[in-house]
Amino acid sequence: MPRPILATVHTGALRHNLGIARERAPDARVWAVVKANAYGHGIERAFEGLRGADGFALLDLAEAERLRALDWRGPILLLEGAFEARDLELCSRLNLWHAVHCNEQIDWLAAHKTQQPHKVFLKLNSGMNRLGFTPAAYRTAWARLNALPQVEEIGHMTHFSDADGARGIAHQVALFEQATDDLPGERTLANSAAILRHARGALRGAGSLAADWVREGIALYGCAPDFPEHSAAHWGLRPTMTLSTRVIGVQRLQAGDTVGYGSTFTADGPMRIGVVACGYADGYPRHAPSGTPALVDGQRTRTLGRVSMDMLTVDLSGLPDAGIGSEVVLWGRAGSGALLPVDEVAHAAGTIAYELLCAVAPRVRFEAAD
Ligand SMILES: *Cc1c(COP(=O)(O)O)cnc(C)c1O
Repeated sequence: MPRPILATVHTGALRHNLGIARERAPDARVWAVVKANAYGHGIERAFEGLRGADGFALLDLAEAERLRALDWRGPILLLEGAFEARDLELCSRLNLWHAVHCNEQIDWLAAHKTQQPHKVFLKLNSGMNRLGFTPAAYRTAWARLNALPQVEEIGHMTHFSDADGARGIAHQVALFEQATDDLPGERTLANSAAILRHARGALRGAGSLAADWVREGIALYGCAPDFPEHSAAHWGLRPTMTLSTRVIGVQRLQAGDTVGYGSTFTADGPMRIGVVACGYADGYPRHAPSGTPALVDGQRTRTLGRVSMDMLTVDLSGLPDAGIGSEVVLWGRAGSGALLPVDEVAHAAGTIAYELLCAVAPRVRFEAAD
């Protein structure tokens, strides 16, 4: 028997979560962001649930090829554009839209002999200071692109740094509007947090800004971008991945006994603990401290002691029927229907759900279910 650890991808939940984006931004087309192998779900599995999207956004050319191999003929956007000049050949061949965020990418386009004119999204750095042209340089970049016969369509794009937090998006929206005001072309601004928190507010106020394309990632995968202020349930999102395994050992502890490497947990009385087939080599966060939630036989309990490479330990106090073979859900949906949002596990471990979903290790078996 293989190790009992399993990641189940819920394609019905992906479909449902896409529907939530459509409700929040009804006039927009949706780029389903499937970078990082669909946030760890696997492009091919996620595609089953997300084929109703208007387009797919990612950054790896090999992932774009995988989407085309699934017979997806619709739009695909490379969020970071070409990494070197010869990437443009593949962009032509696969008919990819691509971001243009620096002058070098415009030089490559100018030198590119293409059969097929390119569709690009020019990227504005409106304050994130990651990729993009400054507002002062934006128009010159647009004029250069616009003069190229290789380029057929120029859209406009920016990315928010604080859509999930108190600072919000208004300052970036204002810069974007100034920079792009009288330029033709489609617009794309919103990530998940902006779709959920601002599509009915600041973005709607900005006229067509919500109305072209939104770029939705984490919310498609059932997580709240603004946890713990809001939960996935608050936004009506359903978990799209369950990481489950089983209890493979049971120990009885007395007061003063410790658990695991470094003896970081000490029992203060008699208790029963379960040893679980999941460790950091499966992608479970080693930083998750004692007390991180888990479900055993659908009941909520907590981890104890340090996570090791292949195992971790859970408290079975109050679970007299649990033992070898009991179902353990590290995040997602138990057989009983009980839920443990990955947001809660990530929060306990001092990180975000994005990181946990992306980090599920190749040795974990994946399965798609509806
Ligand atoms: C990852 C990414 C997104 C999606 O962000 P979420 O917070 O997962 O919705 C949108 N736009 C760009 C440019 C990205 O890199």
